[in-house]
Amino acid sequence: MKVTLLGTGDAIGTPKIGCSCPQCSYALTHHLSRLRTSILVEENGFNLLIDTSPDLRLQLLQAGSPRIDAVLWTHGHYDHYVGYGEFYRVQKPPAVYAVEEVLNYCAAYFTFLSFEQHPVIAREAFNLPGLTITFFDVNHPPGSCYGIRVEANGATLGFTADTTAHIPPRSMELLRGVDLLVIDALVPPDLHLNKHMNYREACDLASILHPKTVRCVHMSHLIPWDMPCTGKDMESFTL
Ligand SMILES: [Zn+2]
Ligand SMILES: [Zn+2]
Ligand SMILES: [Zn+2]
Repeated sequence: MKVTLLGTGDAIGTPKIGCSCPQCSYALTHHLSRLRTSILVEENGFNLLIDTSPDLRLQLLQAGSPRIDAVLWTHGHYDHYVGYGEFYRVQKPPAVYAVEEVLNYCAAYFTFLSFEQHPVIAREAFNLPGLTITFFDVNHPPGSCYGIRVEANGATLGFTADTTAHIPPRSMELLRGVDLLVIDALVPPDLHLNKHMNYREACDLASILHPKTVRCVHMSHLIPWDMPCTGKDMESFTL
């Protein structure tokens, strides 16, 4: 299984429009960016996308224009699904899998597209070619949000999606010991939010879960570029 972080940024992206903070200034002078978070999973010719960010067109071009066979949506926030419209007239819009309330909410935005919609049940694994997928509930108030575990040939990817550190124990078990943990880390350690983890909370959670490798994603422009374990756009992993 090959996993590529197509984007590692938050809803705003880095550089933030109009911002002259150290991170945004550095990004502008060094041609760096954190596009909105989305993950490409490739297994034996089957291409899966976790979330469809507003930057999807650029992200798919940077990834070599893979044909996408299926999409998973974690939740109905702007930065996680509106990029699905980028499939319009580019390829047959791929089948989408999500928990029913998320699927219905997001699909309502795309009345101009016709596509397969597959409601799934949290914590019930299902199969796509070469892959076993499990959605699980996390904690991203006030809406519903689901992390995702992907298994292929004994390799495992765990993605928290947007969440605080208070992930239900039954969901924590699905993240424990994965080969690659991709974790929400929105802000630096000195800031505290009630919908997301900060960098310290993300690292503490990762240390409990004992993944082989961890990468922070969904990072805002406030996170310095040189923090350990922070994901880079287009960084790939072979699991
Ligand atoms: Zn988000
Ligand atoms: Zn900034
Ligand atoms: Zn969100």
